[in-house]
Amino acid sequence: MKSFAYVSAPDVRTAVSAIASAPNAKFLGGGTNLVDLMRGNIEQPDTVVDITRLPLTGVDLLPDGGVRIGALVRNSHLAAHPLIRSRYPVLSQALLMGASAQLRNMATVGGNLLQRTRCLYFYDRASACNKRVPGSGCDAIGGFNRNHAILGVSDGCIATNPSDMCVALAMLDAVVEVESTRGIRRIPMADFHLLPGETPHKETSVAADELITAVELPPLPIAANSRYRKVRDRASYAFALVSVGAAVEVNGGTVTQARLALGGVSAKPWRASKAEEVLVGAPATEETFRRAAAAELAAATARPDNEFKIGLAERTIVAVLRQLASKGDAA
Ligand code: SF4
Repeated sequence: MKSFAYVSAPDVRTAVSAIASAPNAKFLGGGTNLVDLMRGNIEQPDTVVDITRLPLTGVDLLPDGGVRIGALVRNSHLAAHPLIRSRYPVLSQALLMGASAQLRNMATVGGNLLQRTRCLYFYDRASACNKRVPGSGCDAIGGFNRNHAILGVSDGCIATNPSDMCVALAMLDAVVEVESTRGIRRIPMADFHLLPGETPHKETSVAADELITAVELPPLPIAANSRYRKVRDRASYAFALVSVGAAVEVNGGTVTQARLALGGVSAKPWRASKAEEVLVGAPATEETFRRAAAAELAAATARPDNEFKIGLAERTIVAVLRQLASKGDAA
């Protein structure tokens, strides 16, 4: 590992000033991704700004009924919080399906938002990777790509976003608050992660000198009937092949509201807006759920190793919708 300078920040102002004045610096939260990347010489910061002492650990009910979550709240704490379990069960379930208990005890909300892909070629410095070295090529495209993306891919990169939490946040229309020496900015989840296009190395819309300070969840009664399902190669400590976060409201046998997002299929948590369009106003039947899933996956671009993800995603969407719809009709 390359040697680096270490700064411990006591408050947000000091943290954002430190990162603004130090070229090639990184914030250190739980360290569950950054330290691995530094050990592998994938990330090589000259300065690490430790933010673990900042007072960003609250989970608070907002006057409008939403919830504000500090960026340094640990994943395990957030998953167990009564406000999240009762109002946004999809988020609690997604967090509990991520990583291992030990990692969830360390990992922060802000770090989870910024975690980088688990594409094996990205971590192997002997491989060509446009994300690690722009313009070098992508060994995953002609290589082993069973875990890779099928939606929003480009000729330059087919990596997936590894986060479970972010799928739930995308479904919930969360807003991420960031702060720098220029002030405070609020980024809707839909705009937070970027598709690879011709610049796979640009993964989020957060600037290098911006600190994530909080995530806000809107008041969303439909989220009380929400669910996260993750399909993976083993029962724990594995990244999603496909995951689905969803919430549905059924009234008089008709779907009146629907929210759906997918994980394990794209470089960003994939909001399934085409499926939502099919669902709303349609009868809450198996046939509708299948049409919705097919509409979303129609644009998929698969390769021989990961073609199975299309059918797997369709079946998982249908299963989650069936389960949510069976929980009761509001009429
Ligand atoms: Fe790199 Fe993306 Fe290709 Fe993986 S899929 S090797 S991260 S460019």
